[in-house]
Amino acid sequence: MSKVLIIGAGGVGRVVASKCADNPEVFSEILLASRTVSKCDVIAKEVGKGRIKTASLNADNVADTVALINEFQPELVINVALPYQDLPIMDACLETGVNYLDTANYEPKDEAKFEYSWQWAYHDRFKEKGIMAVLGCGFDPGVTSIYTAYAAKHHFDEMHYLDIVDCNGGDHGKAFATNFNPEINIREITQNGRYWENGQWVETKPFEIKQALNYPNIGARDSYVLYHEELESLTKNFPSLKRARFWMTFGQEYLTHLRVIQNIGMSRIDPVKYKGIDIIPLEFLKEVLPNPGDLGDNYTGETSIGCRIKGVKDGEEKTYYVWNNCSHQKAFEETGTQGVSYTTGVPAMLGAMMVLTGKWQGKGVFNVEEFDPDPFMEKIGEHGLPWNEEINGDLEV
Ligand code: NDP
Repeated sequence: MSKVLIIGAGGVGRVVASKCADNPEVFSEILLASRTVSKCDVIAKEVGKGRIKTASLNADNVADTVALINEFQPELVINVALPYQDLPIMDACLETGVNYLDTANYEPKDEAKFEYSWQWAYHDRFKEKGIMAVLGCGFDPGVTSIYTAYAAKHHFDEMHYLDIVDCNGGDHGKAFATNFNPEINIREITQNGRYWENGQWVETKPFEIKQALNYPNIGARDSYVLYHEELESLTKNFPSLKRARFWMTFGQEYLTHLRVIQNIGMSRIDPVKYKGIDIIPLEFLKEVLPNPGDLGDNYTGETSIGCRIKGVKDGEEKTYYVWNNCSHQKAFEETGTQGVSYTTGVPAMLGAMMVLTGKWQGKGVFNVEEFDPDPFMEKIGEHGLPWNEEINGDLEV
């Protein structure tokens, strides 16, 4: 029985709140706090089962978060606000001695730079305080990292090649929309790509490497190599990897819109003067794009995300593919939001459960692949994200 504070009331926050409310034996009291409290109230009313309290919080302000934590006294803070809030929320957890969990690594607002260094730098302070921070417990990073740890534990003596493959085979009927926060999403995919090979990073232009990959129950989709944050921790934690890449599918329509957005300067993250005030074009664009949390209605099709791994077991070459397919419609029926928020929110809730029930223990800052994957893999199916595996199949990549 534990109290949990959830920060962030977007699509992911809605799923985390709904799933925590479904499990009162672990989450005895739930407080959902965010910048716009009315969004928390809607979530509490629609999926809270009468178990969610709400509060207004600007988590950029450490003192405000400390005050809320001191008042509510949670055992764990689940941060599903934006990556910019990671460090101030970690600071508040340190000050109050409360455990921390998030789904995306810290990014400075003025620079699209994805790396764990800022958060890993908190390790000694968390350790000294006797608390833990769990980093990256969504789907990717999150489940993909746990799949990799599971493969390492049960299927390989040495893993050599890892390809994380992320397909959204869904259709939301909109000309252009992103499936999670548009600002974070567009910053991520317009960066140069990067993958790990033979002990170093190989940089690519955005969308330079393309291949049609086949996804279960979906078929062939154009997939592109891009940099994704779990590559940094996985190559560190599994040093036998000779190559590690991340692939994501994009349709032509999406890429055309993205090119236009970039060409007309709307993806810029530096301030421009408009009628005497500074505005950041990408922040403004977010305001006029569809809200990802509202895409669920009429969203058809499935996501399919998994890990394709090659390596050696008992002296023999082996391949292993482990994946989940998630239906946008089923996610919407259950939580009122689409599959991408669902596949992020369910693992965040289950990771929180792992911490609160003592299945994952430690003092310091950890990426999820550093914990025992078994209790998580045992439970993730019953919470809505069942997994499939194929041993020694043809992996394409
Ligand atoms: P949304 O933009 O839909 O929601 C973000 C929420 O955080 C909003 O309620 C917003 O409030 C709130 N917020 C923003 N700034 C602050 C602040 N300073 N203080 C308090 N609350 C704040 O995002 P998503 O729900 O789509 O994504 C949430 C997180 O999940 C992101 O970090 C994203 O990167 C991550 N993610 C991870 C994935 C994974 O697989 N690992 C996949 C998808 C997302 P307001 O409404 O006032 O703006």
